[in-house]
Amino acid sequence: MVRIPFTRPTLSALEQRYVVEALESGRLSGDGPFTARCRERLEAVFGVPRALLTHSCTAALEMAAILCRVGPGDEVIMPSFTFVSTANAFVLRGATPVFVDIRPDTLNLDARAVAEAITERTRAIVAVHYAGVACEMDELIALAERHGLVLVEDAAQAYGSTYRGRKLGAIGSFGALSFHETKNVISGEGGALLVREEKDVVPAEIIREKGTNRSAFYRGQVDKYTWVDVGSSYLPGELVAACLLAQLERAEDLNKARLVLWDRYHTAFEEGERDGRFRRPIVPDHCCHNGHLYYLLLPSLERRQRLIEGLARQGITAPFHYVPLHSAPAGRRFARHVGDMAVTERTSDTLIRLPLHSGLGDVVEEVIEAVLTLA
Ligand SMILES: *Cc1c(COP(=O)(O)O)cnc(C)c1O
Repeated sequence: MVRIPFTRPTLSALEQRYVVEALESGRLSGDGPFTARCRERLEAVFGVPRALLTHSCTAALEMAAILCRVGPGDEVIMPSFTFVSTANAFVLRGATPVFVDIRPDTLNLDARAVAEAITERTRAIVAVHYAGVACEMDELIALAERHGLVLVEDAAQAYGSTYRGRKLGAIGSFGALSFHETKNVISGEGGALLVREEKDVVPAEIIREKGTNRSAFYRGQVDKYTWVDVGSSYLPGELVAACLLAQLERAEDLNKARLVLWDRYHTAFEEGERDGRFRRPIVPDHCCHNGHLYYLLLPSLERRQRLIEGLARQGITAPFHYVPLHSAPAGRRFARHVGDMAVTERTSDTLIRLPLHSGLGDVVEEVIEAVLTLA
């Protein structure tokens, strides 16, 4: 029986109040008053000209892929150590994901591996900020500029994190956020696309609104709305936006609570790392993270599995991930990889994620004790 789940949403009376308000307003479809308030808040927090709510981060990544104007024959470089949506969004456009290895410290894209994978077919790089810790953005920006590539950020795990003081998600041309129940700030399912350049704002609005210029119509910029480009329906309804607005207003507190718990784990495991029982996460000095995820790297697959099973026997859910995308059936069919994937494969074999959510509280001590006994 699960006694201590891996994650659980932290909800308050505010989410309830806003959702009831939305219900009572009678306006439930997308782009109503709650969506507008979320948008304004995200635009202010991230300093971008447009933040478009979507029904998931997957949807935001699909929009980014359409905005990159990639198609068959084009290549997009990304880590293999990521969630499937990072790759699927581009496969849906007919483009080929090109997987490269990650760095052993932050488990993020290795810029040297990215440089080696660039060909004349490369169109974009997707930076995934694993565990809410930033990729080495200066190196990736330099590569993107030198080769004329679009830089997309998969910031699904990174709400509130920074790189050299800059907010993750607002550094590349496009940033995809997730508000899925497992993330720091949630609305059940939900996401947003951050658009950093003015020139992309109207095209992004059109793609999100079924390929129509409805957004410009509502602003009074055109006198009728019509089908003008490819697109789909990527906007969430108002109930989702109402829940999200409450979470966005509470975001700093939610992240702070996670960071306190993250620090408790980190301090408690210092000695275990010195003894070689596991390795703790590494956060570079120029990166501020959001406490999204606490993981440990065990010395071997067998020891990692033994720890997962031991914790499960005590009712503690501690999952691993990811199955590297380059070795997955669809990854082999739709993508290719360049170079040695040794760090990706070793990480996938040895990483364990510990329960962490802003409401975990002193239960963290139980998990610490169990890990120190079993690892
Ligand atoms: C969670 C996650 C996604 C997908 O987010 P959804 O909102 O569930 O679509 C994409 N990429 C990464 C790295 C994630 O962690």
